[in-house]
Amino acid sequence: MHLPWLREPWRQLIGEAQQHRLSHAHCIPAREELGASVFTENFVRFLLCQNPTQQACGQCKSCLLWAAETHPDYYELKSDDGRAIGVDKIRELTHQLQQTASQQGAKVAWIKEAHRLTTEAANALLKTLEEPSPNTYLILSPERTADLLPTLRSRMQLHRFVEPDQAALEHWLTQQLKRSLTSAERHLVTSYQGAPLTALAALRGEQDEVERVALIARAAVGAAVWPQPTKDDANHWLMASIAWLQELLRVQQQLPPHRCHYPQLQEWAQTWLQQQPSHPVTTLSHRLSLCYNLRHMTREQSGLNLPLLLQNLWLQWQPHR
Ligand SMILES: [Zn+2]
Repeated sequence: MHLPWLREPWRQLIGEAQQHRLSHAHCIPAREELGASVFTENFVRFLLCQNPTQQACGQCKSCLLWAAETHPDYYELKSDDGRAIGVDKIRELTHQLQQTASQQGAKVAWIKEAHRLTTEAANALLKTLEEPSPNTYLILSPERTADLLPTLRSRMQLHRFVEPDQAALEHWLTQQLKRSLTSAERHLVTSYQGAPLTALAALRGEQDEVERVALIARAAVGAAVWPQPTKDDANHWLMASIAWLQELLRVQQQLPPHRCHYPQLQEWAQTWLQQQPSHPVTTLSHRLSLCYNLRHMTREQSGLNLPLLLQNLWLQWQPHR
């Protein structure tokens, strides 16, 4: 595991597998800022591998099928554009998991965005957890462990990542960038405590994206004028709009600042929330679905006037005064 803070949890997991003490159900929270999906992917590959040692071998038939994204015994479930994961999807998955594995190895299902499971879906899943089929593993990745129903949580092995402290974070960033940090950068990094991958992205000059999000954040509360997207950068502006709406949802849910992707924009998020007369979540979900729709349209249709469509969209985001 190349991310140092993931080494210890990985070592523990492999230790349990080697002692045949591995649980059938795992909750691995989707802490992207810590590399949770890399960790979980490695775990899935390890479970499916026919000759695993400290990790998946990368060479057996199972590993090759995984690499080609065609492993027949791997199932993945996630929300479509932020919608709830309903009971039908869970029933279908449970049915598939009851079939015999086609590679004579394990069957693995990974439910991403598991915080979007409806109560009915979670209850249907509960039955599967109570009567697990042999050699079948279920991994749930909610935003937060606490987002799962207590009845589900109590039947799963709960995984927790330990965040690197400030010194370890700076040390790691220095290694990644192959240079020492300037004092301005060290100052910036303090706002990314506990979020090493976000900090690295910010320092690596994915700053353009951060600046776009920052401008949208300010415009959305009336503190700046809206940008003038062009044909060439309209798509970046659309992505930045989506990023900001998702961030507002995180802040609204009161995730701690280091779990947010733009901790330096917290103030703007708070200002926006204070400006909302009522139901910020409804407003945000509505705006997000319009953005997703636009993203979908740009993928399907050519010759779309995205700059104009975006400007029309932003017009409706004007703060009420
Ligand atoms: Zn293998």
